[in-house]
Amino acid sequence: MTLALEILDNLYGFSLAKYATWFFYKPDHLLLDVGEGVSVAMRNMIYGINSVAITHGHGDHIAGLPGLLRSRASSMGDKEKPLTVYYPKEDRSINKLYRYIKDTVGKLTFEVCWQELEENQKIPLAFNRYLVPFASHHGENGLTLGYKIVEHRTRLKLAYRDLPQQELINLIKQHGKQSVSESYDHILLCFSGDSMVLNPQIFDHAEVLLHDTTFLKAEDRDENTHATVEEVLLAAKTAQVAAVGLFHFSARYRHPEIVETITKLVQDLQITCPVFYIFSNPSPLSLRKI
Ligand SMILES: [Zn+2]
Ligand SMILES: [Zn+2]
Repeated sequence: MTLALEILDNLYGFSLAKYATWFFYKPDHLLLDVGEGVSVAMRNMIYGINSVAITHGHGDHIAGLPGLLRSRASSMGDKEKPLTVYYPKEDRSINKLYRYIKDTVGKLTFEVCWQELEENQKIPLAFNRYLVPFASHHGENGLTLGYKIVEHRTRLKLAYRDLPQQELINLIKQHGKQSVSESYDHILLCFSGDSMVLNPQIFDHAEVLLHDTTFLKAEDRDENTHATVEEVLLAAKTAQVAAVGLFHFSARYRHPEIVETITKLVQDLQITCPVFYIFSNPSPLSLRKI
């Protein structure tokens, strides 16, 4: 399995524009956005969450937080495990949510650390990985964020890559490992949050690009706040990402229409990387007879 497919395999989530968006990335115990329904869907897996990274304060991305905190304090799991909530600096809706939670959720059994972020900060994750927020384009007055999970790696400098092994060993013995190697950042996952299409440089050669594609057609877009499938596939091609995940589709579209549009664009634009999407049809619950 390629690294990109492995990353996608470790990603769980839900997304429907204006209703709810959240994604859980298991290896880093990280919840990206916290839309309604997250606790119901994840159940006991909520204890696997160490941090929540919020992209912006719209209801469909934050409404699940009060429920998540309550469930984490009362379900079957480690009730004392602390939780960090990252969010864009000075986001007024999230500051209101913070006050609402203080007033209504009551005393929790664990500590919640609220941490404002600005773009390009580096938050250490496990091993040599980092969470890096960046500015998205969502038409708000304040800062809205996307997030990257970046792995810090080391490789041989280009000039030494074809050298016979013994010569390389001698060089390392004489001058140390640093003399022949260089460090670089590799993007494992880039999550756009809600955004117009991002600059491809932000996710250059990323393993997985997870990007807002609210619209199937640019004509359906009334405000410049969300991207189209075509824009995102073109940007993914430019950046040569290894795989793409499309999310945040508008509920105006039906499932077959979404699949048809993506399939046609993949062919027309000659997209060679695997393309994934998330869309949920409404499935009302009915009472079941025993
Ligand atoms: Zn949204
Ligand atoms: Zn939004």
